[in-house]
Amino acid sequence: MTSILNADLHCHSVVSDGTLTPELLAERARKNGVELWALTDHDEIGGQHRAAAAAKAQGMKYLTGTEISVTFIGTTVHIVGLGFNPDDENMIAGLQKTRGGRRERAMEMSDGLDKVGIKGAFDGALKYVGNPDLISRTHFGRFLVETGVCKDTNEVFRKYLTEGKPGYVEHKWANLKDAVTWIRQGGGVAVIAHPARYKFTANEEYALFTEFKAHGGQAVEVVTGSHTAAEYVTYAATALEFGLAASRGSDFHDPSESHTDLGTLPYLPGNLTPVWDLLADRIR
Ligand code: AMP
Ligand code: MN
Ligand code: MN
Ligand code: MN
Repeated sequence: MTSILNADLHCHSVVSDGTLTPELLAERARKNGVELWALTDHDEIGGQHRAAAAAKAQGMKYLTGTEISVTFIGTTVHIVGLGFNPDDENMIAGLQKTRGGRRERAMEMSDGLDKVGIKGAFDGALKYVGNPDLISRTHFGRFLVETGVCKDTNEVFRKYLTEGKPGYVEHKWANLKDAVTWIRQGGGVAVIAHPARYKFTANEEYALFTEFKAHGGQAVEVVTGSHTAAEYVTYAATALEFGLAASRGSDFHDPSESHTDLGTLPYLPGNLTPVWDLLADRIR
């Protein structure tokens, strides 16, 4: 296939920290001209059969997806998986293990917020949670905006939910090798999500890309809602340097919170191998 394809291979539903159902996301994607879609809920594939059926009903091609939380050299890195078997037992077990501990983490986050005078954050955040297994910082963000503590979720993260701030709790996610292996063994392709977000030094970033490849990783997000136009250029070069295919996805979560809507990003640069070229036989 060509790189001139409106593929959106990264977004979230109520099954993780998005606010729309898989069906409403599919409808919105189609309205925005998406031709190939993947729902990539955090650490969870419970929405995959619904998403595939909704894509079919909308006349869109579909790839199975997830976004796995990984701890790499002390930093949280996200690895997107595409095109794996949604019923793969190893993947299901691995993700279940990765989700474990989110509830305890959230209670600790709430304790931290309580100490700076923000009461009832655990119960407050829980009201926004669609999947009890997947309480995330995003849900706390929505609670703190709704109660007027901050004007938007960006401010919440800056002031309360990032390293060194009162609501931040260190957490150990999956390791890189396991995440890539679950995806590969399920027949899919592993993708480094939004690499510019990690603020790694050149050496750290080199280590991530090198180890990712060594474990069987095959692609990187180049055009994403989390990158600036200058970062598209940077990571297009990185994709070529490491011999990785390129992916494209909005990382859409919610109509009012997300600045990039489904299907609205620029196309992938024409000199890159699109990740969907590696997944031709996995597209439904
Ligand atoms: P968690 O998996 O609980 O650590 O939550 C991570 C999620 O928080 C990400 O997937 C984003 O949806 C959201 N997030 C991270 N940083 C920000 C930010 N600066 N502003 C808004 N949302 C953010
Ligand atoms: Mn998210
Ligand atoms: Mn992410
Ligand atoms: Mn995401």
